[in-house]
Amino acid sequence: MGLDASVMCNCYRDGKAKPCPFPDLYYVDDDGFPAVRLDMNDAYNEEKSDEFDAWLASCCEHPYMDQSSVYLADWKGYHAFVDALKQGGEGLFSALLAALPDENNGLIPASIARQCLHELELFKQQSGVIKTFLVNTVTGSIISSRTGSESGMFSWDGRTGMRAGFDENGFFIVDAWELNREMFRAVRMSQRQLESDELGQPDRFEYTDLDTGQQFVCGTPVRIFVKSDFGTKQEYPQQMHIEKRSVDVDYFQYILEPLSHILQVSVQTGNPVRWS
Ligand SMILES: [Zn+2]
Repeated sequence: MGLDASVMCNCYRDGKAKPCPFPDLYYVDDDGFPAVRLDMNDAYNEEKSDEFDAWLASCCEHPYMDQSSVYLADWKGYHAFVDALKQGGEGLFSALLAALPDENNGLIPASIARQCLHELELFKQQSGVIKTFLVNTVTGSIISSRTGSESGMFSWDGRTGMRAGFDENGFFIVDAWELNREMFRAVRMSQRQLESDELGQPDRFEYTDLDTGQQFVCGTPVRIFVKSDFGTKQEYPQQMHIEKRSVDVDYFQYILEPLSHILQVSVQTGNPVRWS
């Protein structure tokens, strides 16, 4: 799952498409897609709809009148990019932040796409973006990179509702079943696996704040997958910390490229960018 975007072509408007079977019923719907206006009392609705869809699929050189359609990113990658935009401050990327959707729908007109394109160029000229990481203190490797819009949550126990995550201010565990009440928070901490004596009982994990000594035990571990002789195995890092690192703007190339492209197509055609 992730976010896609597309822009409609102008072949129909410019008379370059094959004739529509129901020109009087043709319209562009609120989501920006070509559609047929059906009368609910018409017994031939289904046939009309099918005939229209068949026409739409092949009426011009662009199947379904898509001038272009792109996959932007999965939600994690998308939210990481939105987070990076929010660091801009002073409304530097306000058009982009207003235009980018929270769900797989909606559209922005070409005039907004032009503003977004301008902001995207500004974004690319930045020297770097600060990102927050959860780091394995022993190895120095990144365990997880923060994704703001999911509140940095990455691990949880379906039996108890204990949920682990992190943000700029530390690693935390919240009780998802009690309005996300915070049970533990630390910038530097250790994790210890407490193996269960009882058969069938899941292991528990003891977290210790290395600055205050505060401890918390729950069934939600921070785990990483490492290569082993038999594929991959789970490991529980014993020491972790929160660290801010500057990453190059190229880090976001995966979304910058398709997003620039679809915004350009919108500006060129004058048609909206449709999120889906
Ligand atoms: Zn076309």
